[in-house]
Amino acid sequence: MEIHYWNKEIETADRKTIQAVQLQRLKAMVASALHTPFYKRKLPTVGINSPDDIKSLDDLKKIPLASKEDLRQNYPKGFLAVDTSEVVRIHTSSGTTGIPTVIYLSAADLDAATDIMARSIVATGATRGDVLQNMMSYGLFTGGLCMHYGAERVGLMVIPAAGGNTKRQIQLMKDFGTTVLHITPSYLLHIHSTLGEFGTSVKDLSLKKAFIGAEPHSENTRKKIEELYGIDAYNSYGLSEMNGPGVAFECVYKNDLHLWEDAYILEVIDPKTGDPVPDGQEGEVVLTNLIRHAMPLMRYRTRDRAFVHTDPCPCGRTHRRISRILGRTDDMLIINGVNIFPSQIEEVIMKIPEVGTNYQIYVEKQGSLDKLIVKVELYSKMFLGEAKQIDKLKAKISDELRASITIKPVIELHEPGVLPVFEGKAVRVVDKREKL
Ligand code: AMP
Ligand code: ZN
Repeated sequence: MEIHYWNKEIETADRKTIQAVQLQRLKAMVASALHTPFYKRKLPTVGINSPDDIKSLDDLKKIPLASKEDLRQNYPKGFLAVDTSEVVRIHTSSGTTGIPTVIYLSAADLDAATDIMARSIVATGATRGDVLQNMMSYGLFTGGLCMHYGAERVGLMVIPAAGGNTKRQIQLMKDFGTTVLHITPSYLLHIHSTLGEFGTSVKDLSLKKAFIGAEPHSENTRKKIEELYGIDAYNSYGLSEMNGPGVAFECVYKNDLHLWEDAYILEVIDPKTGDPVPDGQEGEVVLTNLIRHAMPLMRYRTRDRAFVHTDPCPCGRTHRRISRILGRTDDMLIINGVNIFPSQIEEVIMKIPEVGTNYQIYVEKQGSLDKLIVKVELYSKMFLGEAKQIDKLKAKISDELRASITIKPVIELHEPGVLPVFEGKAVRVVDKREKL
């Protein structure tokens, strides 16, 4: 397999070198943090009054964990370390409560984030000559602009298509010979189901790769995408609090995501106790940004669940890999006392060949009990046969789900195009129960 690097020296550096870079950058970050109202309050309470109080990477543990709530409570400027005249870009993410969080980037921060993005793109083998159609939304969301800048830096031809308008997306792919997509996996599946409607088939396209991210998805969803389009799909992980996409990315081996450890310090903790969990064990990902000085953010609780791989990757990169995001610490559903993660449901249904490209999970109350409904779209050819066949399939899906999640959900099977379509992040779970 041909391996390309953007910055071979740092991508293949030994652990000692990576840790030395981390320590030096962490000290610099603490120096910046001490200019923010938030850390000016917090750091002295744990004995950190200057960067010299960080003597080794172990001292990171002294720094308090930060949460989305901290960002909200300190909106809009509590984490800002510089005068706004130094800021060249902001992004916000709105979340569910309506109180936004904001990130600020200086010119140097933007440059550093763009470089990490470029590194991620090159790790997949994408290169000058490729045509990237960027279908993430442009604007306050980081997904569009940050990928755009990284891809331009590598020298790809970028089509800033943004999300939505499927017909135009397909036309753009055809007219400009798009080879790489940046897109949510749910929207990519949806586009496939509309190709026929627009008189197109996969054969009319020049696609080779897709960077899929921004929302949880299972290995079976990736496989489905790869089979439907005949492409390689690379998992792309990021979050606006850490500058958006490009925090961790798959290389050509597609065996989970290299997290760029010279730019982000990775910890995995037990979400209940806050204690570190051993490599290989699932926990909450906690990240320290080492490359953004306008708005320092250290030991940020992402609420994303994953584990760290310990085996080396054949690509030669030494930056440790994290598993795909297995869900969020706050997305567990409790159905009549049974704990279920939406990812378990997706994993099962997406490997059933008759299942099409969209699904949604509903929870509602029936009397005092919880009712779990899994709504699944099938390929249209499934509705040409006998009704008996559909009943059989319903039972099969229900049985396979019960084997995995221990309870038997109600299965609703639909023709394509019935369930809501999301051009950005898909809403996979609708919980109609009253919140206590
Ligand atoms: P935002 O800050 O709006 O960009 O959202 C970031 C969140 O999206 C992350 O914390 C994850 O929960 C989710 N996310 C982003 N990329 C992925 C991915 N590749 N797999 C699963 N979830 C993802
Ligand atoms: Zn690799």
